[in-house]
Amino acid sequence: MAKSTNESCSFCGKPKKDTQLLITGLHGNICESCAEQAHLIAEETKASSKKASSQFKIEKNELPKPVEIKTFLDQYVIGQDQAKRYLAVSVYNHYKRLMQIESADEVEIEKSNIIMVGSTGTGKTLLAKTIARLLKVPFTIVDATVLTEAGYVGEDIESILSRLLQVADYNVESAQRGIVFIDEIDKIARKGDNPSITRDVSGEGVQQGLLKLLEGSVVNVPPQGGRKHPDQKMIAVDTKNILFICGGAFDGINKKIAQRLNTKVVGYAASKIKIGIDKDNMLQYISPQDLKSFGLIPEIIGRLPILTYLSPLDRVALRNILTEPKNSIIKQYKKIFEIDGIKLSFDDDVYDFIVDTAIVYKLGARGLRSISEDIMIDAMYHYPSTKEKKLHIDLKYAQERIRKEETIQNKIA
Ligand code: ADP
Repeated sequence: MAKSTNESCSFCGKPKKDTQLLITGLHGNICESCAEQAHLIAEETKASSKKASSQFKIEKNELPKPVEIKTFLDQYVIGQDQAKRYLAVSVYNHYKRLMQIESADEVEIEKSNIIMVGSTGTGKTLLAKTIARLLKVPFTIVDATVLTEAGYVGEDIESILSRLLQVADYNVESAQRGIVFIDEIDKIARKGDNPSITRDVSGEGVQQGLLKLLEGSVVNVPPQGGRKHPDQKMIAVDTKNILFICGGAFDGINKKIAQRLNTKVVGYAASKIKIGIDKDNMLQYISPQDLKSFGLIPEIIGRLPILTYLSPLDRVALRNILTEPKNSIIKQYKKIFEIDGIKLSFDDDVYDFIVDTAIVYKLGARGLRSISEDIMIDAMYHYPSTKEKKLHIDLKYAQERIRKEETIQNKIA
């Protein structure tokens, strides 16, 4: 209890005479109302950390099996079967690994980080975002292009983990079991072919930093991300059990693959390789060696043991993307009009026209959206103010909109 009458609460400064109770500790005092407040704060913190950990709790019988994960992905992503399978297995094994750590089994399941290679706009990010919907662990997508070596303008490698911490409500234990998707990993490839060249800021230095995370180490993370500064409080995060999924377009890697295959032609497997090479989809032959030729350091490649690819999207795939996924572009337009009580319909050849235009202008899957937008913008502007209950889009209407807008030409100019 308080020893002298001029004592006061160390938190609010209230003198003892104005309090009902002043509890005295070794180095200070606390009054009854500050004690009550402190109790409330402690309870809230406990409740929110309990919520965060239960949100990401893994129960074996609740885990989706690889086949179920793939079936789920099929609803949103067209094609890309191999990448889907690899992702599904990898995520499932990640769960198993986490459960096995909890049971302290002697056989240790090794982490299997993945790298997905595929041209831009073939669905890498879409796959990652879709799988995130059914994950039982914290998940985040980061862009490797913003990362730079410590001391240079840009974000520190550790900022990758800041995002994961944020998603996990700053529950370190949950974050340490999470999954990180690193997009555009190819952008940190070494620029020069010659590994002995002086280290380049954006390339090898960043790869070395990333390696530390992939290998599993305890990293001091700035909670708000961005650049570290000396006065900032850091949170220690162990990356040992974090699963990393990397994706990149690796523009030009086709040539490296072709070179390697051609070199092999001289060898004894020549006939086997030459026959049946599918030149339109060279990525299916990708091997870790090609990633090395492209400029990833061997240590990084070694830490990304699962290598998979995404196929280029052909006409059929593009056509399917337009109408088939659960939230396909066409379904979204129908929904937009339905909200105003308008039934929207299309002639089938409008779909073909959109796909053809995307192909002609080499816009890929991303182009489907902008072309459709150009066709629909007038109607979306006028129809809500009319009494119309139906809108049918035929080929002539679609062609006229595109001609009128001339936006596609502008977009690629
Ligand atoms: P990237 O491979 O460059 O990460 P994205 O996943 O961002 O490509 O794809 C861009 C857009 O194109 C997606 O938002 C989606 O609308 C569409 N898309 C691309 N590939 C597919 C696919 N396989 N299935 C369905 N939609 C796709």
